[in-house]
Amino acid sequence: MNYRIRPLLLGEAEVPNVLDIFWSLSTDRGRSSVPILAFLLIAPDGEAIVVDCGMRDPQRAIDVHRLGPHSCSPEQSLPAQLRLHGVRPEDVNTLILTHLHYDHCGNCAQLPNARIIVQRTELMAAAAPMGPAALPIGGKSLFYDRADVAELVDPLWDRVVLIEGDHMPLPGIDCVLYDHTHTPGHQCVYVRTEKGVAAIVGDIARKVDLNITQAIPPGIYYDLEKMRRALADISRRADLVLPTHDWDTLERGRIG
Ligand SMILES: [Zn+2]
Repeated sequence: MNYRIRPLLLGEAEVPNVLDIFWSLSTDRGRSSVPILAFLLIAPDGEAIVVDCGMRDPQRAIDVHRLGPHSCSPEQSLPAQLRLHGVRPEDVNTLILTHLHYDHCGNCAQLPNARIIVQRTELMAAAAPMGPAALPIGGKSLFYDRADVAELVDPLWDRVVLIEGDHMPLPGIDCVLYDHTHTPGHQCVYVRTEKGVAAIVGDIARKVDLNITQAIPPGIYYDLEKMRRALADISRRADLVLPTHDWDTLERGRIG
C-alpha cells in the first residue's frame, strides 16, 4: 500500500546555521530562515494521517524559548494547509508526533478526532526537561512547551496513544524509536510511497547532504553514538529523507 505525502508549511523560524553541525563546530556564523513543516499522508482509500503539527504561537518561541523571530501567517495555519489538499481537520484520524519540541506538537487540539501517537519516553522527557534555567537560549524548558504538555496530559489525554519502541500504526507506516538522539524519545516515521520508503525524520537530520550523506550529526543531540547509529540506520532504510526544517523538503516531499 502506497501513501501520497504532502508537506504542510506551518510557519517559519530564523535560526543560527550552526544548528546544522555537530557540536556547532562550524565556521558559519550566519542565520537562516527555515520552514516549520508537518506532513499529510493520504492512504489509497483517502484516510488522512498527519505527522507533527507545528507551533502553538510564534511569540512563545521568543518569550518562552528565547529564540529568534518566528512567524505563522493565516495561510500557514494547520486547517488552512490541510484545506489546500481537500482535508478538514475533523477528517484526520491519526496524528503521529516525531517528538514534543514546541515546533512539532503545538496544534494537537486542532485535530479534534485524531488519536495522538507519541513515544512514552518523549512525553516523560517533555514533562520534566533537564534544561538549566540559566541558559540564555532554551532555558529550563529546553524547547518543550509546558502548554503543549499540559494539553496532552489532561484535555487530550484520552486520545493520546503512548507507544514504547517500534510500532506500526497502519499498514505501510512504521514508527521507529531513536532514543536519546535529537530528544530522549524521538521517533522517525517511515512511509511506503511510489518512490520507495520516505523517512519523516523530524529533527534527527536537518540537511540531507550534510547529516545523512556526509554523516555529520546535527548540533542538538543527547547521545552522540546513538545519533550516529540513527543516521546510519535512516540512510540504510530510507529511499528519501525528509527533514522538518529544510526548504528542499517542500518539493522533494510531495510524493504521489
Ligand atoms: Zn524542530
